[in-house]
Amino acid sequence: MWMQIAVAIARATGTVFEIESRRPVGGGSIAQSYAIAGGDRTFFCKFQRGVDPDVFAAEALGLRAMFDTHTIRVPEPICWGAAEGAAYFVMEWLSFGRGASAAAWDTMGRQLAAMHRRGASDRFGWERDNTIGATPQVNPWTECWADFFAEHRIGYQLQLARQHGGDFPDPDRAIAAVRSALSWHQPQPSLVHGDLWSGNAAVTTDGEPAILDPATHYGDREVDLAMTELFGGFPAAFYRGYNAEWPLDRGYCERKDLYNLYHFLNHFNLFGGSYGSQARHVLDRLLQT
Ligand code: ADP
Repeated sequence: MWMQIAVAIARATGTVFEIESRRPVGGGSIAQSYAIAGGDRTFFCKFQRGVDPDVFAAEALGLRAMFDTHTIRVPEPICWGAAEGAAYFVMEWLSFGRGASAAAWDTMGRQLAAMHRRGASDRFGWERDNTIGATPQVNPWTECWADFFAEHRIGYQLQLARQHGGDFPDPDRAIAAVRSALSWHQPQPSLVHGDLWSGNAAVTTDGEPAILDPATHYGDREVDLAMTELFGGFPAAFYRGYNAEWPLDRGYCERKDLYNLYHFLNHFNLFGGSYGSQARHVLDRLLQT
């Protein structure tokens, strides 16, 4: 398998590559990851058995779109495919430091806002479906944000949650309530990371902010900000930087729980447990109003 991966890297980069060392990298929740090095080059390679290599093709396309905005650092995708029954994905290696300064968080906020602004589209969705964690994420092109978020985010996950045995309201009722809650909100479609929790944001040893492991699509930029607040929030400097570059609308605070409902439902679908009651709490409030 490693031989095949080395050949694929050589083909993608136009330079012969031989793997001289391979070191496991911890921290991933889904795939097994390695730092692979040869000559003076190092790459990050993750691989996974029993998964369609197309999942990595989708991740690569998302990283490429983000990379091409030249706003915030993301690892450049190199090559991906299948080798000996496993799916693999090779990307640029980024060397992460331990702590991050307030200045680096401020820059991350500014650069994320720049990505949201520069990565613009005239519709919501994406050129293909992808995944959020291990859950499929559907991205049909849609004109109206309220329709997109209600049907393809909340409706989709709610359907899955009920299949997983969760005691949740009827998806059609929830879809109607989400649509109505967002009916006056007409954001511009922005290229968003889509899965921006603290494990997917880091600062390199050079002090450069980077974001990883995306569930890229065109959506309301507020979904990225909402997710950063899901597990305690990023440092205040991040939000200062973001708002200095592109201030958030006032209604953001009312929408963020609704946006995070998507992640509560997804976490329930992936891990079960108390995420279900957090999702129900948001749904109950939504259906009462
Ligand atoms: P998973 O999809 O399994 O959650 P991630 O893509 O989040 O895997 O990667 C797992 C860990 O590997 C991350 O937490 C990060 O520390 C490290 N990592 C991810 N991408 C890179 C990279 N391009 N260069 C160096 N380390 C990386």
